[in-house]
Amino acid sequence: MQYAWLDGKFIPLESAKVSILTHSMQYGSGIFEGIRAYDTGRGTAIFRLKDHFRRFEESAGIYGMSLGYGAAELGEAACGLVKKNRLKSCYIRPFAFYNDARIGLGVSGKKISVMIAAIEFGSYFKEKERGIKCKVSSWHRINSGILPVRAKASGNYINSIIASKEAADAGADEAIMLSGNGYVAEGPGENIFLEKNGSLITPSESSDILLGITRDSIIKIAQSRGITVSEREVHREELYTSSELFFTGTAAEITPITDVDGRRIGSGTIGPITRLLSNAFAEVIRGKDKAFFDWLSFV
Ligand code: PMP
Repeated sequence: MQYAWLDGKFIPLESAKVSILTHSMQYGSGIFEGIRAYDTGRGTAIFRLKDHFRRFEESAGIYGMSLGYGAAELGEAACGLVKKNRLKSCYIRPFAFYNDARIGLGVSGKKISVMIAAIEFGSYFKEKERGIKCKVSSWHRINSGILPVRAKASGNYINSIIASKEAADAGADEAIMLSGNGYVAEGPGENIFLEKNGSLITPSESSDILLGITRDSIIKIAQSRGITVSEREVHREELYTSSELFFTGTAAEITPITDVDGRRIGSGTIGPITRLLSNAFAEVIRGKDKAFFDWLSFV
């Protein structure tokens, strides 16, 4: 049987139910995380568990949601759940939401529930091994004047969904969104990196991005391999003239992009730096790189 963790208890996944009128379902008023656990050969380890629950707490804090559980307690619950579900590798989804069926936007006095699910999950993009086709979206990424971009809030993702759907309808695999001021921001659920002349470039914090934990991992892994990384504003046309492009994210891991707006990127195949970093990342998540071993929490 598969379990979920809900408000402090492990319960069967199929009995973890809410009302169809739930506030967070109607209005997107939840905050969540996406975390992966990997089979390292020495047991299952959750990748950057503490950093994910730190961001979860920050997202809750931004919205003034009081969770009632600390990051350490939630981290332990996630480990317990992976073990209880006997998963060797999986995707972990913590979610905090207004578990209240009363109509009305106001949240005062409404119950907040916290749940964690852990499920089997393969590659996010089925074309990951050959590289994906992207389309710059006509929908801009939300910006801090509209919604807090640093919070991983459910409502933000309606912006991602409309961009992804537009890209899919146009025959692309994924969208690339521009920031409010027209610079490259990120994918709907991924950060983006460009490679040119042996160096990496990624949109800076000022480009309305979610500060991805995989983004941070790749910056540190690249620097450890002597590759320089600059975080700055990126013009759309730089996507077209880069030698390599890839997305990073917990779900996407490292996904090469070989086409943007119908233009071939570099050689149109997975480039050497992308391959080097994918291999290095695969070693890190499986505990084979001592320098980054403390990013793993064994369940
Ligand atoms: N940007 C957005 C909008 C995302 O939803 C995600 C996925 N959480 C990312 C970037 C990548 O973040 P991470 O590497 O922490 O998964």
